[in-house]
Amino acid sequence: MASQDVYQRSIDLHRSCRGKVAMSPKMAVGNMADLALAYTPGVAGPCRVISSDRQEIYELTAKANTVAVISDGSAVLGLGNIGPEAAIPVMEGKCVLFKTFADLDAFPLCLRTQDPDEIVKIVSALTPTLGGINLEDISAPRCFEIETRLKDACDIPVFHDDQHGTATVLLAALLNALKVTGRKMAETKIVINGAGAAGTAIALLLAQAGASDIVLCDSRGILSRSRDLSPCKARLAEATNPRGVEGTLANAVKGADVFLGTSVAGALTGAMVRSMAPDSVIFAMANPVPEIFPQEAKENGAAVVGTGRSDFPNQVNNCLGFPGIFRGALDVQASCINDRMTLAAADALAGLIPDDQLSADLVIADSFDPRVVPAVAAAVSKAARETGVARL
Ligand code: NAP
Ligand code: MG
Repeated sequence: MASQDVYQRSIDLHRSCRGKVAMSPKMAVGNMADLALAYTPGVAGPCRVISSDRQEIYELTAKANTVAVISDGSAVLGLGNIGPEAAIPVMEGKCVLFKTFADLDAFPLCLRTQDPDEIVKIVSALTPTLGGINLEDISAPRCFEIETRLKDACDIPVFHDDQHGTATVLLAALLNALKVTGRKMAETKIVINGAGAAGTAIALLLAQAGASDIVLCDSRGILSRSRDLSPCKARLAEATNPRGVEGTLANAVKGADVFLGTSVAGALTGAMVRSMAPDSVIFAMANPVPEIFPQEAKENGAAVVGTGRSDFPNQVNNCLGFPGIFRGALDVQASCINDRMTLAAADALAGLIPDDQLSADLVIADSFDPRVVPAVAAAVSKAARETGVARL
């Protein structure tokens, strides 16, 4: 479908449906007796039960299966700070995916504030109704503080998908790409271009997964300790770049095994790929136009190439992650989603492709593979139990 065509057809679809989600009751109210059970006076019964034992909320209300998709509209898709109203179609779309892939009831909440204090106050006050909170399209570096503070304030999972969903799916693809090219994580030289929401979370998760040589770049070059950096980036520079590399991306990628792009279109050139180690691995995830197109990367020596797009092999698509991650967390009434749970999700996702089927063009499962959500959810539930955050 030509891109103009897809945009117009999407507008037509949204106009004809007036949005993509609706609430529907689980019971019929056809007479006075139904009314007396669903609402007053009968409903006082379940209210009293919950009032004397709050844990009963998981049995007597929709909480256990309910997720809110919350945004302040500050970093929507690649469209930037377009505000809360314009963000609603994206959040509705995410709710459709939650329901379709994981049978979770999700609703969109776009907030007319971009003040971190207000967001934390408002969102944490919403938790009684919710089983989990998916933060979405909140700009960096505000998203780091907002998520950290909300995790502290809330007794349910809070998960910023642009950070951790991306990192989880990317890790799964990378684990398999390293197998295909005969590499070990601990010995692999990794460059991440883009130190925003996605790049930061990828760096932190890869470190948890055993990577020991990660160099991050932002729009001004390598995050090195000699640079004058924001507090978030300074912490990243401390935790990465063990060889103390300085300068530009071109410098960072010389001899590197892996390039991970979470930056902008066209940031990686063919010449840069040629300067990397033989049989390099490239995930160029800038959307909609990647840091380098797969053909150019391969012509210049890359062995495995992935993007964020569905029209090339190895799509790093967040919908391989968040539905199963939330399903697994909510199935055991987890109080949070921790690194062990996302690492387990990545392992499970990677494991869906058996070693004898792995190839340069197949390192990650397809978004419509029906095994994805059950496998990810089971791994996440198990990790939640093992780390003591499951309440069931
Ligand atoms: P973000 O928070 O705005 O971060 C973007 C980062 O890219 C910033 O660190 C920025 O540098 C850096 N950057 C901008 N221009 C650059 C350049 N020419 N060279 C190097 N770095 C440059 O955005 P995000 O949410 O992390 O997303 C980043 C990109 O990844 C977007 O294109 C997004 O669509 C894509 N993405 C894809 C997936 C997926 O495919 N599954 C998932 C998530 C994100 P400064 O910090 O200096 O401004
Ligand atoms: Mg997003």
